[in-house]
Amino acid sequence: MKTKFLFTPTLCVALCLLAVAPVLAQNAPHAKDDRDDQVSIVQISDTHLGDHHAPHAAENLKQAVKMINDRHPDAVILSGDIGENPQAWDEARSILKKLKVPLYYVPGNHDVHSKDVERYRRVFDKDYYEFQVKFVRFVVIDSQLLGNYDVYSDKSPAPLPPETEDESDRMLSWLNGLGEERRTSKQVVIGVQHIPVFHDGKFPDPKPYWVISEPYRSKEMKALRQLGIKDMLVGHWHNGRVFEREGITWHVAPSTAWLPWGGELGFAVHTISADGNVRTQFEDLPGANP
Ligand SMILES: [Zn+2]
Repeated sequence: MKTKFLFTPTLCVALCLLAVAPVLAQNAPHAKDDRDDQVSIVQISDTHLGDHHAPHAAENLKQAVKMINDRHPDAVILSGDIGENPQAWDEARSILKKLKVPLYYVPGNHDVHSKDVERYRRVFDKDYYEFQVKFVRFVVIDSQLLGNYDVYSDKSPAPLPPETEDESDRMLSWLNGLGEERRTSKQVVIGVQHIPVFHDGKFPDPKPYWVISEPYRSKEMKALRQLGIKDMLVGHWHNGRVFEREGITWHVAPSTAWLPWGGELGFAVHTISADGNVRTQFEDLPGANP
């Protein structure tokens, strides 16, 4: 009798759930994913508004915004090369205003050159900063303060002008300061910047233009290790890929605008679990032209 007494309410609850579950599913096909045990981030990159290499940049970005709104991520990150000039930035911002979730901007080497970081700051405020999404802390780094990317064809890394070198020192002190604070914390920390620190094997080609070079490379890697960063979200290569190097997984988002190295136009979707594991999928823009 005792068994029956325990079994009956349990069975009733189970049957009720079975009956209600399909109704809930039908009523909420587009409900936001409110799971507390994972974070869903969409990363768009290299949108290149106003660049003659990317005549369809604006329409592609509009398509991406629609697709992203249908996915209901927790946040969106734009990892640089937003547009060629302040007018192009305005156009990008007016398209991106339609996103229904928070958007975080990161400067690329088409946005910030070796001497004009103030121009970016006047429009976008900070070029390096932190933000929090649920249990994940994101650290945004301005990779253009870690090298001079003004000349594509340079065969060896060009120096930064002295005033930008000072900016570089300030950013690295800030980054090291975050590491000191975090040494004991178990929080998941993920880094974001435009330019990857390392090549992926020989990709895209041996030019220093594609990566962070010394002395900045060692300084940055030391700071990233101190922060406990195991994953970096980057762009710049216009080619979606994920690779490991020096204890960090580098998640390179594709471009929405321009394909100098083949591949597909699209964006990256990162799902981050409570233990800090980052799973990346690439979503193509169907029918989009570069
Ligand atoms: Zn780019």
